[in-house]
Amino acid sequence: MTSTKDAIALENKYGAHNYHPLPVVLSKGDGVYVWDPEGNRYFDFLSAYSAVNQGHCHPAIIGALKEQAETLTLTSRAFYNDVLGPYEKFITEYFGFDKVLPMNTGAEGVETAIKICRKWAYEKKGIPENEAKIIVCTNNFHGRTTTIISFSNDTDAQKNFGPYTPGFIKVEYNNIDDLESALQDDSVAGFLVEPIQGEAGVMVPDEDYLSKAKALCHKYDALFIADEIQTGIARTGSLLAVCGDCTCENHCERQPETYVKPDILILGKALSGGVYPVSAVLADQEVMDVIKPGQHGSTFGGNPLAAKVAIAALNVVRDENLAVNARKLGIQFRNKMNELKEKSKLINTVRGKGLLNAIEINDSPGSSTAWDICVKLKENGLLAKPTHGNIIRFAPPLVMTSEQLDECIKIIEKTILEFNRS
Ligand SMILES: *Cc1c(COP(=O)(O)O)cnc(C)c1O
Repeated sequence: MTSTKDAIALENKYGAHNYHPLPVVLSKGDGVYVWDPEGNRYFDFLSAYSAVNQGHCHPAIIGALKEQAETLTLTSRAFYNDVLGPYEKFITEYFGFDKVLPMNTGAEGVETAIKICRKWAYEKKGIPENEAKIIVCTNNFHGRTTTIISFSNDTDAQKNFGPYTPGFIKVEYNNIDDLESALQDDSVAGFLVEPIQGEAGVMVPDEDYLSKAKALCHKYDALFIADEIQTGIARTGSLLAVCGDCTCENHCERQPETYVKPDILILGKALSGGVYPVSAVLADQEVMDVIKPGQHGSTFGGNPLAAKVAIAALNVVRDENLAVNARKLGIQFRNKMNELKEKSKLINTVRGKGLLNAIEINDSPGSSTAWDICVKLKENGLLAKPTHGNIIRFAPPLVMTSEQLDECIKIIEKTILEFNRS
């Protein structure tokens, strides 16, 4: 087996340096745990940016993968396959939409949503050709394509990758007045938003922000588009973050008063439980029907392997009550972190929802404090990664037990308090 030292050296020598990983190499995963080649075990508090909500190598998902891999993997959409239809029925019923458009990565899902929204604007709303605009938020993260980075305000993500795609307006996140003034422009086609901004540092908007935003979108005849690639699939303590406080494990028609149903919903990451790239764009008939044969597609999108894996991954979420567990454990986590905040000057803020949480370290974003804390956490058996310099995100797999979470909280407490003294 490749050692930690050798694995890091090989990546440094032969890989493009487009990431700056924590110095740990992982060679095995099971549930909430991962191991390095030397056999050290860690709690995974990143879950591959919330792709591994169901836990590493969940047997039901891996079982579905193996079975389908030995039967049929890829046909392209030039032909029908016998798994895609059942998957489309399953996922649309699961989330309560008429139609799904299957893709692979999250960024492709976002690109797909942008294309659907623009086409809807020209063909349904009647915006003159090439004039449609989509409103996005400051500090958004929607992926890495040339179009998506065009409306990022992260300089690393954007600089020297231009010329940038036009047609996007930026408004301040969680500022409803800012959104309303932008919506007055007749050429606005839609509003693309993360219900909680994960990459920005787990920024939770005001409780009524999303419902007000959707109401405004409809007032001005624009589509409300939710990017739930990171927040969706039980991560924030409900099936989707737009479900609000509803914990039903199916789609949210049972509690319409808390559910802010998007016109377009984008899912990825945990849609496969992290075993395969699967993303999806969901919408009702009148929106999805703007896409006709030949106008959009993907060789791998909707392949039978992805379809089987996604069904299995969504069944795990429902069968194991992961939304309810995420909600319960999230409260336990934030309570303990708030107690720790009282004991340590290192912690500025504790925030989050369900098991998508962050602590803000009391130091400048340019400092190495959060990184150094993450290195110490690693040495103590827990993996987390800083985002935006001084913020540490904590997002373990949702299959964690309350006892395991207690153990993790002790590791974090010990690390922070020791760090205080050094
Ligand atoms: C991860 C992420 C994406 C991009 O997904 P990829 O699979 O990396 O392309 C888009 N939006 C949000 C909110 C994400 O967290």
